[in-house]
Amino acid sequence: MRSGKTGGVTPATASPSKSKSQRLVSALLAWFATSARDLPWRRTRDPYAIWISEIMLQQTQVKTVIPYWNRWMTALPNVKSLAAAAPQTVLKLWEGLGYYTRARNLQRAAQLITTQHNGRFPETFDAILTLPGVGRYTAGAISSIAFNQPAPILDGNVIRVITRLFDIAANPKKKAVNEQLWTLARELVETAHNLPEQCADNLPRCSHLNQSLMELGALICTPQNPHCGECPVQLDCAAHRAGRAAELPNLRPRTKATARRVIAFVIEHNGRLLVRQRPTAAVNAHLWEFPNAEVGHNPAAITHADSRDSLAQFAREQLGLPLTNFAPLITMRHSITRYRITLEAHRARWTGKSNAAKNAGRWLTVEELHALAFTSAHRKILKHLQTTAVTC
Ligand code: SF4
Repeated sequence: MRSGKTGGVTPATASPSKSKSQRLVSALLAWFATSARDLPWRRTRDPYAIWISEIMLQQTQVKTVIPYWNRWMTALPNVKSLAAAAPQTVLKLWEGLGYYTRARNLQRAAQLITTQHNGRFPETFDAILTLPGVGRYTAGAISSIAFNQPAPILDGNVIRVITRLFDIAANPKKKAVNEQLWTLARELVETAHNLPEQCADNLPRCSHLNQSLMELGALICTPQNPHCGECPVQLDCAAHRAGRAAELPNLRPRTKATARRVIAFVIEHNGRLLVRQRPTAAVNAHLWEFPNAEVGHNPAAITHADSRDSLAQFAREQLGLPLTNFAPLITMRHSITRYRITLEAHRARWTGKSNAAKNAGRWLTVEELHALAFTSAHRKILKHLQTTAVTC
């Protein structure tokens, strides 16, 4: 990676000439018209549908989002149905997408639209920006895609495309650089908005221009090995001309990952399994999971839970659960932000009194568990139970 001082366009000089902007915009619009993927949310101008897709697409790939979006739009097709839905229904439809605050904010925003906008989706950038969970990017995406307004967007794909088109070598996470990228994104979408009529083709130009930047970043201007030979704006791309497209954007190295170890128990009692709901203030609030606790970070604590006796002690001390008959069930690894988590699930039997069992959580059959919204990792434990011999 290069520093911001070693070449390329600095933030203060990155403004494109009018003719370059017009060439870029015309080429991007023409390319988008013939090469855009046929995605379900691109077949509508309904702001609700576009809003749902934009929130789902944050941190999540298109191919993962498509079935979620289809299910959601069938179950909750408009603001009114989302505002009135049971919170567990909303979480169940979101189950597996992660970052569950997004789902909760969607429902809060729908309720706010119902009470403050008479159920009608707000149509201005400023009004959309006031909705819970909606930031500058999402407000710009909805304003431009649903209402064809000249509002800019800047997400990871667009940052990559713009830093390369203008050979911006400084780190885009720096405030001044980021603001300059917003300015460039605005100039491009405003150029689309102001294109001479003969170029307009009756297309929603602001919508298509913004989507073309995202699409180019997803399909052609990829993080590694960009396909410059197939790129519609290659002739105007400063980084390509300088032979350093693959070096941009200049992002700092990622924070070092931290290892964490969690032990979960699938506890059987009278043909049912014990689950608990995560508390309101916790990450993944209100989702369900098998009882679990993190093993401490010091090496002595990590060995502490490795024998059957120590598993019993761990369950008693960390979770207040009297357990016996441990058997390893599944070990899985997953990542949340900078944490690399190893989750070890063990089967176990309840050895306490039945009265105490009532206070430990909810005891449900496997069939009943499937109706609940689980965290992704614990959903995998539940699926694994189906493939192994379960007696309850
Ligand atoms: S020419 Fe290459 S680096 Fe430049 S925008 Fe196109 S794909 Fe990206």
